[in-house]
Amino acid sequence: LTTFSDEAKIALDTLSGRATGLFSPSLRLGVTGLSRAGKTVFISALVHNLIYGGRLPLFEAQKSGRIARAFLEEQPDDAVPRFQYEDHIAALVNDRVWPESTRAISELRLTIEYESASGWNRMFSAGKLSIDIVDYPGEWLLDLPLLGKSFADFSREAVEMAALPVRADLSQSWRALAATIDPNADADEMTARRLAESFAAYLKACKLDERALSTLPPGRFLMPGDLEGSPALTFSPLLALSDRRPRSGSLQAMMERRYEAYKTHVVKPFFREHITRLDRQIVLIDAMQALNAGPGAMADLERAVTEILSCFRPGRGNFLTDLFSRRIDRILVAATKADQLHHESHDRLQAIVRRLADRAVARANFTGADVDVVAMAAVRATREGTVKQDRETLPVIIGTPLKGERINGDTFDGKAETAIFPGDLPEKTDAVFDVSGSQQPDADGPAIRFVRFRPPKLERTAEGVTLSLPHIRLDRALQFLIGDHLA
Ligand code: GDP
Repeated sequence: LTTFSDEAKIALDTLSGRATGLFSPSLRLGVTGLSRAGKTVFISALVHNLIYGGRLPLFEAQKSGRIARAFLEEQPDDAVPRFQYEDHIAALVNDRVWPESTRAISELRLTIEYESASGWNRMFSAGKLSIDIVDYPGEWLLDLPLLGKSFADFSREAVEMAALPVRADLSQSWRALAATIDPNADADEMTARRLAESFAAYLKACKLDERALSTLPPGRFLMPGDLEGSPALTFSPLLALSDRRPRSGSLQAMMERRYEAYKTHVVKPFFREHITRLDRQIVLIDAMQALNAGPGAMADLERAVTEILSCFRPGRGNFLTDLFSRRIDRILVAATKADQLHHESHDRLQAIVRRLADRAVARANFTGADVDVVAMAAVRATREGTVKQDRETLPVIIGTPLKGERINGDTFDGKAETAIFPGDLPEKTDAVFDVSGSQQPDADGPAIRFVRFRPPKLERTAEGVTLSLPHIRLDRALQFLIGDHLA
């Protein structure tokens, strides 16, 4: 017979989600951001620092010595590819090259054994938390608004965006091709393919362009995952659509059917199976690239962040709301790669991200989740120093620039350490935002010059112990994202 206190304990354990033995509590952490924002590097560095007890003074559970161990476990979702942590760490640590970036969804389970800070929790808790880290392209998330749009809406918006001065040159050949197509003509696979390829080439050109334009849907045209070449990806918006229902057997009917298939078979399942199950989310942004490209790119980044945030907390009456099974209660908007700046500029970078996030939160009409911001470097590739120039002492950052990087006409060989003066971010955040709404690159040229560095050589202590990957404020990000679950 169980005693009353045993039963009470089981009931309480179950209630608080901390039951011992039966199941261990888990937290699903989404990691997203547009391609090259730093997702792969962030997850690798986070896991490495937790497993090897990195220097994380702002991560309370670690600082107070309450973490017994952190280790990788088998993930619960058998049908989702595993995040290739070991390969990525081998690249970073052994070869000192950046790992392969995110191209599709992947998952990794990290389990932390800890001692609770409160006596009450210690009594009832197993002191074990599994974190399911879900890495997915931000491009896929930005497909969600398509669920509320017909093929005609999608076509009209795509045509309008493509004709904007900032995109007109990039979309020229697709628009020229689309103008020769009669939507009412007989459906033809080759025409569909030519149109889809041309439209995809235009979307890719926007991504690669130095204006750093934000992403337009469909996201799988940029990041196809395993769907490359499938009919659900072989469509394109059409010009001059009539309001009438398309003739059966026409090109328009074919495109419309494929667009609907894309929504049904690609967008919806992704949203339902992955996004709606998240508890916490980090959105990584490459603010450095946008800052370099000028105020137009900052405005564009702000638009992307607004759209991303509105996907997580659709308001009442929104068609997405019913699909959510859990509620994301904390979102961190994080600018990575702060190691490309001197620390005097880190707070300025954070202030810029704060303003960007505040405006995005206001515009997305977003309530009900805590949104915080951080300027960080998941992997710190530089250290700081000073150089004397004339009679001035200038702050510099020192690292090994990637092979082929150039500055002032010099090309680096990827071997030698170099001191670089990265320039300062402006003190006033206004200066980096587009007040006029213009999309033109900054006439004065970039405010900062940033060089890409190789990952750092890991330090060893006097006892010969190799330290975990260095970072900037990764601990602050961790505290916000999971700290309260280890209290
Ligand atoms: P993903 O596409 O979001 O997975 O982006 P990655 O994590 O692959 O990062 C893209 C690139 O950004 C890397 O190859 C690095 O060059 C750079 N990068 C990412 N994180 C950092 C960082 O913390 N510090 C520095 N210096 N560079 C970074």
